[in-house]
Amino acid sequence: MINVAINGYGTIGKRVADAVAAQPDMKVIGVSKTKPSHEAFIAKSRGYPLYIADIAKKAAFEKAGLPVAGAVEDMLKAADIVVDATPGGIGEKNKPVYERLGVKAIWQGGEDHEVAGFSFNSDCNYKDAIGKQFARVVSCNTTGLCRIINAMDKAYGVEKVRAVMVRRGGDPADIKRGPIDAIVLNPVHIPSHHGPDVQSVLPNINIVTQAMIVPVTMMHMHVVQMDLKREATREKVLEIIEKHPRMGLVRKATGITSTAELKEYAMDLGRHRSDLWENGIFEESVSCLRNELYLFQAIHQEADVVVENIDCIRAMTGIEKDPAKSVAITNKALNFIAIQ
Ligand code: NAD
Repeated sequence: MINVAINGYGTIGKRVADAVAAQPDMKVIGVSKTKPSHEAFIAKSRGYPLYIADIAKKAAFEKAGLPVAGAVEDMLKAADIVVDATPGGIGEKNKPVYERLGVKAIWQGGEDHEVAGFSFNSDCNYKDAIGKQFARVVSCNTTGLCRIINAMDKAYGVEKVRAVMVRRGGDPADIKRGPIDAIVLNPVHIPSHHGPDVQSVLPNINIVTQAMIVPVTMMHMHVVQMDLKREATREKVLEIIEKHPRMGLVRKATGITSTAELKEYAMDLGRHRSDLWENGIFEESVSCLRNELYLFQAIHQEADVVVENIDCIRAMTGIEKDPAKSVAITNKALNFIAIQ
């Protein structure tokens, strides 16, 4: 059993904790919060020991009815590996303590590549993570791009990628985020940081990305265009997507043409928290014009990185050296079969 600590029990951390708890070969030894919140009550109800960043706040937690198991450092001492899911920029500040205690750590996409010196995607570089002390699971957008680009690179070779990310303005519970009534060029400069982030995993891919944020909360939408080294057929590309354990086809027959309907579909499928861990690639959008490939893919920002964290734990601890086996174990434990 791998003992996993989750430092930062928010949008990503609470999902990673539940995914860890569902696996046959790992267990949650603790989660951390900075202040009493509804999520801290969820941690209590799930039976996850609750640790706090500032032990001076112990009385405030206990007064709220939240037993405190100790300080974050106590949690780290009991862990084989910590998944740092604190807000972007905070994770980097935690690095000295992970180094001092010699604990393995996984950061999220809100941190720079340099924090770990290694950026992970289970499809692309699982084996390179084996035995590493530090890794960073790339962001939700980069994860979605890496999956489709790597699959096409393996099948045809990728000459270049041009992609536009239409990004959600905030997560559903983010009451302080926006925009409210605008399309914000984010960033206004081209290329956006997403292309270089893809290259932190797939260094040989020629990619330029552009991004904007819009007033929605449920998902991102990617407009992807790739020049392939060999001519592709639509049928073959659809077959590759269909067979991929982390990419799903949003079938024309479902009538789904939006992120709203896709999230509703995930909910109706009975997915935990209505999460879509896979890229949702719109079947009707997949078009091949000789060696050019075009498609739309929806990315559930809260979910796609969660399964990557689980595989990253297996790779770094060396408990499973075969990427395909890890992906299969992760997916099975979550009852996750990609939509087809
Ligand atoms: P979040 O704000 O929802 O959750 C962060 C949690 O960390 C909160 O519960 C907060 O209380 C806790 N926290 C803050 N400071 C802490 C500290 N010093 N010690 C311990 N806990 C602390 O953030 P999130 O959306 O889950 O993002 C976490 C990371 O995941 C970021 O790097 C982010 O960029 C990345 N990420 C987020 C998304 C997304 O869409 N939400 C998608 C992919 C990656």
